Amino acid sequence: MSNLTPGTPDPSCIFCKIIAGQIPCHKLYENEHVLAFLDVGPLSPGHTLIIPKGHYKTVDVMPEETAAAIGLCLPKLSRAILKATGSTDWNLLQNNGEPAGQEVLHAHFHLIPRVKGTDLREPIKGNGLPKRAWPAVEIDHVTAGKLAEQISSLL
Ligand code: 5GP
Ligand code: ZN
Repeated sequence: MSNLTPGTPDPSCIFCKIIAGQIPCHKLYENEHVLAFLDVGPLSPGHTLIIPKGHYKTVDVMPEETAAAIGLCLPKLSRAILKATGSTDWNLLQNNGEPAGQEVLHAHFHLIPRVKGTDLREPIKGNGLPKRAWPAVEIDHVTAGKLAEQISSLL
C-alpha cells in the first residue's frame, strides 16, 4: 500500500517506470495527461493499455480532468487501432482493485480489438458454462513494433 500523494509517481510502479522511459514500451499515443501503449501480454493484436500519466490506483481516485482526458482520446485511438488491425469490434475493459482482477495497481483501460470468432468467454473449469477467461499470449515485439508505428501514423 503506497502512502504517496495520488498523482505523484510511484517508484515501485511498472507503469510509472514506463511513463518515465525507464522501461520500454510500444507507444501509440501520448499527450499531457495520457499514455497509450501495446499490452505486453495481448489478448489480440493491437491490445492497448491507456493510462493516466499521474499515478492513480483506480478510477474512483482520479481527478475528473484525468478521467475525461482518457475518455477524450478513445474515439480517435480506437479508430486507428481498428484500421491498423482490420478489426471492426472491440472491448474496453477496466479493473479497479485486486479483488476486481487488477494486477498492475496504476489505473488502466484495456482497449482490445476483436475479430469474429474470438470469445473471451471460454468454457473453463468443468461444468462447461462460459466463464471469463483471459487468454493472453506473449507479445511478438517485431510485429508489435510495426503495428505501433502503423497505429501512431494514423493518429
Ligand atoms: P490488469 O489485470 O491489472 O487489468 O492488467 C494489467 C495488464 O498490464 C496485463 O494485461 C499485462 O499484460 C500488462 N502489463 C504488465 N506489465 C507490463 C509491462 O511491463 N509492459 C506492458 N506493455 N504491459 C504490461
Ligand atoms: Zn504508477
